[in-house]
Parts: sequence; structure tokens; C-alpha cells
Amino acid sequence: MEPIPYRRPWLSVISLLSAAAFAFAVCSAVSCSRGGRTAPMAADAAEVAGDVPDGGLGLEAAPAADGSRDEAGVAPRDGEKGIAGDLPSEEAEAMFVSMDIPAEVRARMMGVSYPEGAAVPLEDLRYLRLPYIGFDGRTRVGEMVCNKVIAEDLLSIFRSLYEARYPVRSIRLVDDFGGSDEESMAADNTSCFNYRAVSGGRKLSKHAYGLAVDVNPLENPYVRGTSVKPAAGAHFADRSRAFPHKIDSSDLCCRLFREHGFSWGGNWRSLKDYQHFEK
Ligand SMILES: [Zn+2]
Repeated sequence: MEPIPYRRPWLSVISLLSAAAFAFAVCSAVSCSRGGRTAPMAADAAEVAGDVPDGGLGLEAAPAADGSRDEAGVAPRDGEKGIAGDLPSEEAEAMFVSMDIPAEVRARMMGVSYPEGAAVPLEDLRYLRLPYIGFDGRTRVGEMVCNKVIAEDLLSIFRSLYEARYPVRSIRLVDDFGGSDEESMAADNTSCFNYRAVSGGRKLSKHAYGLAVDVNPLENPYVRGTSVKPAAGAHFADRSRAFPHKIDSSDLCCRLFREHGFSWGGNWRSLKDYQHFEK
């Protein structure tokens, strides 16, 4: 075989350059799809994001495939697959955001959770993005509207819940349920602001001021005599037994809200509202 003394080194250099280019391309692709450290959430958000309000961070996902139901009989919602595992802590930290109500969110709220003539100015409300761990262990980013005076409390509380992997079913605006507290509760949705009266009364609820939060309401229903809300939560009205996602006075969620000066509806005497924390 005739040797080719001067071509071989060039071929090697060309091969090396090709390999480097290939490696770079693969690295870039992996970095984009997995959320590399340099351009992390922008890439991830673009890949799994749905509607992103102005200035907000999006993280929504592909439709849930299995259509299964869990022990409480609630089917996963389409478009809520989330992402497996935890976000790296710096990325998660950056996703806990409080801001003035963005124009897009304002449009969603008008005439739904926020009626014309509401006594609480929109300027007093804040829009929060809250990463959380779903009942399936996957990470999602929820949306919440609250009063500005508790925005920092809620960021801190939900950050602690996230770090402890405390499961929350969903965190969506009641506007996604047509402003219906009943429907939001029946879907086991955690929420705050809703311009409405107290259940069964005329007085404005603390929710109308964005000063109350309901957490995992299906497993932690409102109980007044024989009346249970949501109705599907009747199974969980008996608090003498243990079951997953039950809020009691030793529960982490309850402790965190207490530390931030909130009172818990589970301590009320005339009725019990195990999902409810207010300030
Ligand atoms: Zn409530």
C-alpha cells in the first residue's frame, strides 16, 4: 500500500474540526432542550410554555396522556403535564415572581373574578408565578392573583412548599373556572383572589380583597353542619382519619401560613374551612 505522508495530517485536522463542530451542535441542542445554565428558562419556557403574560415566565406543557384519575377522583387536566423532577434551585428561585397585573391577565379577570365597580383597585393586586410540585411529583408553574400586602408572604410560603416538595394539585386563576368558586374547588384548585361574598352570605369574603388563599380544597373542604364544599370533598369532611394532602395544625402548609401571620379556617368554631388561610 502506498503511503500518503502529507495528506494524513490534513485529514486528521479536518476530522477533528468536523467532530468539534458536531459536538458543538449536539451541545447546543441539548442545552436548548434541557435548559442549559446559560440560557435556562427562556429555552425551557419556550418549549413547554403556553400563554405568557407580559413580563411573565411561562411553563406549561403537553396534554396529559393517560387520562387516569387519582384517589380523589380528579382527572389530570389537559395541558398540565409539567416537567419531571425539580428545577435547579437557582432556576426555581428565579421563577417565583410578583408583578403588577399584566394587561393580558387583566383582560382575563375583567367581568370574571373582577367585576365592574369592584371596591378593590387593581393597583392593590399583584400577579404571582409560583412553581409547585404536583400530586404526580412533576414541577409546574402556577398563577395566582393576591393583594399586594401578602405578595411577599405568598412567595416565601410557596417557595418553602416547593423546596419541601409539598404536593399541590393545581394553582390557577379562578378565571379559568369562569370565576366559579365551586368549580375551582371541585377541581381541587389552589387560588386566592376572587371578588365574591362569603359562602352563604353577603359580606365580602377575604378572597375579594386577595387576602385569603384556599389550598388543595377538595381534600380540605369547607364544612358547615351537613354542608360540605366542594360537594365532592364530603369524603374528606371526617378529619379524624388520616389521608394524603390533609391539612391539620401540624401540616407544613399550616405552619408556614401561621408563621406569616395568617389564620386558618380549620381553627374556626362555627364552621370549619380546612383549605382556607387569611390575613
Ligand atoms: Zn377560602
